[in-house]
Amino acid sequence: MPVITLPDGTTKTYDAPVTAAKVAADIGAGLAKAALGAKIDGVLCDLSTIISRDAQLAIVTPKKRDGTIDSDALFLVRHSAAHIMAEAISTLFPGVQLVYGPPVEQGFYYDMAFPAGHIPSADDFTKIEQEMARIVAQDRPFTRYEMSATDGMAKANSEGSKYKIDNAQRACDAAKTSGANATLSWYATGTPGENWEDLCRGPHVPTTARVAAYKVTTLASSYWHGDEKSDRLTRVYGTAFASKAELDAHMKQLEEAKLRDHRVIGKQLQLFHIDEMVGQGLVLWKPNGAVIRQELQTFIGEALRQQGYHQVFTPHIGKLDLYRTSGHFPYYRESQYPPIIDHDSMSALAKEGCTCADLSNRLEKGEIEGYLLKPMNCPHHIRIFASEPRSWRDLPVRLAEFGTVYRWEQSGEIGGLTRVRGFTQDDAHLFCREDQVAHELQGCLKLVKLIFGTLGMKDYRVRVGLRGPESDKYVGLAENWDKAEQACRDAAQSLGVPFSEEPGEAAFYGPKIDFVVRDVIGRSWQLGTVQVDYNLPIRFDLSYQGADNKTHRPVMIHRAPFGSLERFTGVLIEHFAGAFPLWLSPEQVRVLPISEKSDAYAQELHAALHQAGLRTTLDTTSERVQNRIRIAAEQKIPVTAIVGPRDAERRVVSIRLHGKAENAGEMPFDDFVTALVSDYRTRASETLAGKITPTTK
Ligand SMILES: [Zn+2]
Ligand SMILES: [Zn+2]
Repeated sequence: MPVITLPDGTTKTYDAPVTAAKVAADIGAGLAKAALGAKIDGVLCDLSTIISRDAQLAIVTPKKRDGTIDSDALFLVRHSAAHIMAEAISTLFPGVQLVYGPPVEQGFYYDMAFPAGHIPSADDFTKIEQEMARIVAQDRPFTRYEMSATDGMAKANSEGSKYKIDNAQRACDAAKTSGANATLSWYATGTPGENWEDLCRGPHVPTTARVAAYKVTTLASSYWHGDEKSDRLTRVYGTAFASKAELDAHMKQLEEAKLRDHRVIGKQLQLFHIDEMVGQGLVLWKPNGAVIRQELQTFIGEALRQQGYHQVFTPHIGKLDLYRTSGHFPYYRESQYPPIIDHDSMSALAKEGCTCADLSNRLEKGEIEGYLLKPMNCPHHIRIFASEPRSWRDLPVRLAEFGTVYRWEQSGEIGGLTRVRGFTQDDAHLFCREDQVAHELQGCLKLVKLIFGTLGMKDYRVRVGLRGPESDKYVGLAENWDKAEQACRDAAQSLGVPFSEEPGEAAFYGPKIDFVVRDVIGRSWQLGTVQVDYNLPIRFDLSYQGADNKTHRPVMIHRAPFGSLERFTGVLIEHFAGAFPLWLSPEQVRVLPISEKSDAYAQELHAALHQAGLRTTLDTTSERVQNRIRIAAEQKIPVTAIVGPRDAERRVVSIRLHGKAENAGEMPFDDFVTALVSDYRTRASETLAGKITPTTK
């Protein structure tokens, strides 16, 4: 006799097992009509799931109460759309073998193995969408059926797709390790045995017509299990929504994103260059990009000094022993550049005829000393902390460095500034006493708030990663964890922005706080993190002398709130669409004399701006003034000072601000220079706001 508790706390009692759909219908016809799925005791399920015991039930509809899109609904719609697309492609491309098709952040994909010479192209998307439309219009139910592991494996084997056999085997293995009763489930799009079906855990929307809006978007190549040595597959991407309006909004956002692509703007504005001859994922900051980076470093550096941080510098390499102690080697070997070996060891090894396999073995065992390009800055900072005796009075010790690290990303994953192989973190390590953790976390978040505020990134949220239920994988005392987790929660709360707690997302060595920024067109970017660490102080046997004269272990906080300067700059380029505020702009003021007659006055203005520390150029080319204004606009220069003979006579400057169509007005010469210097120093988000006199003509 199940008692079902609804999200508002009310209950419904049934005499017999009941489907989630029936409960929805009993609540109201409107809800039953809108329902796409159900959450039973927090687990997303089909609406047809039978509830036979007491449970919490929430009906999933396309939108949440506040009108925003429900991410569970999106999951159901997209997963269902992946099935519909797979059926459509199976019909249109006979011989295709399906591999795996999950929902992803922007939509869904399906990995497929097409027979050679029969791989679809973007020209086929309309045809595929039309076939999908046919399936959607038939409004067939998604019908789940289950089999025991033995029968299910027999079915998969008889069907003969090695990919599906592998999926089935993995599903059985996963069930076994979690101790569950191993069953396999299929979803038929319609009637089992008659209509198309796919091995699938589910859940799905009730019928195909509930996938109201969809689009096949792109093709990419992928590998089976992501393994470059395994079968090459075609990944067909699509997206889907519960309504046409949502899909349209999404497509519009993608259009806008294209215009903001930092790789395109980076090239157009000469900010950075990635050169095949230097190496993939290794960023060359060009002069314009270097200005932005330097301004960011100065800004962050000033804030750090105010918070009592000390700047340090450390080399880009360190001995393997250092990383053996920290645990970065050999455990994260896959994501590092291979070790560097010195000349003497190298020639000794050559003489011995040492093979590559030998070498790697002996490096791992520590029989050969080598160096590593540093994958992390922590070990170096730890050695600075350990280089002198520390007392409780010295703590916290806050060591900051714009530290460059190197990581081996798979070549398929690198691109632009957001996935790179060498990057500079806005890194710092805080060594503190247990009782100082909360205060130090607050300080870290205060800094984040200041910087996001200055950059006009108002829309951001915070994720607090906590321990998961299997408590044995975490190092450190449970009571310390409790305190650290509470400190993370309190710090996150103090920011006054939305935050979520994510059990199981902590690192094994401590809880963490992550930052996710939403840009002006609504995309989310994961930036950096603040992490509490009990582990490295143990591994490096760090200590300080307490007030009780005994030896104590400090706690470490790692923090790189913006992740890396590369990634952060990439996000900023897209956030501002390349039109940076004055303080970050590579060129701040373009001085344009209308004609030769005003060259001298323009020269004087340019010199005065330059003298005041502003980045300015004088454009005295013989192009028509309208053309020169257009060029300045294309280069997204925040301020263009246009001067003619009349301006010279009256010692004023006519001003055009980037992004504003008409001339903004004018300012007296000296006031103009002073006001710009002030906007630059204060890192104003708007330039010359309220300081310009409109021109009356
Ligand atoms: Zn599925
Ligand atoms: Zn660290």
